[in-house]
Amino acid sequence: MDTQMLIGSRFEKGTETEEHILNPKTGETVTDLPEASLSQVDAAVDAAEKAFKSWSQTTPGERSGYLLKIADAIEKDAAGFAALEALNCGKPIKSVLNDEIPAIVDCYRFFAGAVRNLHAPAAGEYLPGHTSMIRRDPIGVVGSIAPWNYPLMMMAWKLAPAIAGGNTVVFKPSEQTPLTALKMARLLSKILPEGVVNVILGRGESVGNALINHAKIGMVSITGDIATGKKVLQAAAKTVKRTHLELGGKAPVIVFDDADIDAVVSGIRTFGYYNAGQDCTAACRIYADARVYDNFVADLSSAVASIRFNHADDTENEIGPLISRRQRDRVESFVARASEHKHMEITAGGKVSGDKGFFFTPTVIAGAVQDDEIVRREVFGPVVSVTRFSDADDAVAWANDSDYGLASSVWTKDIGRGMKTAARLQYGCTWINTHFMLVNEMPHGGLKQSGYGKDLSTYALEDYTAVRHVMINHG
Ligand code: NAD
Repeated sequence: MDTQMLIGSRFEKGTETEEHILNPKTGETVTDLPEASLSQVDAAVDAAEKAFKSWSQTTPGERSGYLLKIADAIEKDAAGFAALEALNCGKPIKSVLNDEIPAIVDCYRFFAGAVRNLHAPAAGEYLPGHTSMIRRDPIGVVGSIAPWNYPLMMMAWKLAPAIAGGNTVVFKPSEQTPLTALKMARLLSKILPEGVVNVILGRGESVGNALINHAKIGMVSITGDIATGKKVLQAAAKTVKRTHLELGGKAPVIVFDDADIDAVVSGIRTFGYYNAGQDCTAACRIYADARVYDNFVADLSSAVASIRFNHADDTENEIGPLISRRQRDRVESFVARASEHKHMEITAGGKVSGDKGFFFTPTVIAGAVQDDEIVRREVFGPVVSVTRFSDADDAVAWANDSDYGLASSVWTKDIGRGMKTAARLQYGCTWINTHFMLVNEMPHGGLKQSGYGKDLSTYALEDYTAVRHVMINHG
């Protein structure tokens, strides 16, 4: 297991406070990893700054070549990466191997192609005797900070467009899930020139805070909680840094009376609970038409009760535990508070599972109303609420009545109704008759307090480059 950070071409351990890296399935310590000192943070930023001088001058074709090599190397060691990610996050190994790794490999390959197609509008004479052109140039050193729910995938989403665009990076994984980032550090050091990517470890309040306040960092890219995003903005204000924010979500799901209820039930069983609901797009806030509500709640509750988890044979598992005891306790307290209200009913799950690890039983809470905490706040666990509506306008208004604006879905056989509703929803993404599906060609990112950074697609490449105007006087 790799335990050292990557600073320039050097591998070294942090010198400060140790973090216990846990196996969420058992609660046992896998290893202890010390975090970086402030001088190690400075050294990583200096290495990235030095590397920027030559990396930013490489051609898109050259950078594309490096990205393709990274993709190939991950694919070659897919089993090793998947085993480590499963260990550190408690994910079922087949989810990582079959769902996550192919998407991660494809992310590097997508940006390898996309950067060679990054064109600006045609040059032109907007002032007689002068030709104007638009350039898209790298920004500099990017400080990238990732969450714990998809560590290797978030690393891909952040590194691939940043380095494709000609930037260099200091990357900090979540203090809870650093293991695959350290394995990636070894892989990257064999492929990329020194200093293009640096990987440092540490907590948000110490190492993360040093990164977001660092004078030599030109852009901060963070995926995390809204509260963390606000701290990034406050720090960025001091030096007017660029920021790329991907914050939380509370995805509404509108189920019309003409929807294929079997498809909705099977969809929510998957898309509401994948990764134990620790997903910012999780289908967690359902609004169901009163005409189908009772049947839907009954079918969903029995489908959710059949989700397989916490089996000794991991090939049986569909979902894993929560990431930590703290997260599991947080989820439990949301459910406990909901169950104190008479109008809500726990129709599936609702309790901690097992005496080791951080498992929580997949849960359905029926009868929730718009003002309930369970409808308004992000739980980030395997908990879905269902709210009844009689008027479609109410459903759309309630769906939009949220601080979040990341993802949403509409379920109906009437495609006109689906399109009309999608147009009214204030979310970065709306799916019709599905949920959760992402592709590297399409942008992922939010509105409102979910943030404004776009991951994936050529829009991410635009976020990680600056538009510049060059004007030539014909003389
Ligand atoms: P978090 O905000 O606690 O931590 C995210 C990262 O930020 C970690 O690396 C952490 O160390 C760092 N951090 C924390 N405080 C910091 C500070 N003061 N300065 C600098 N860095 C700091 O979030 P989390 O608990 O790891 O992840 C869960 C959250 O992430 C959820 O709210 C979820 O919705 C969100 N999320 C969003 C997306 C998206 O695409 N929008 C994707 C995944 C997760």
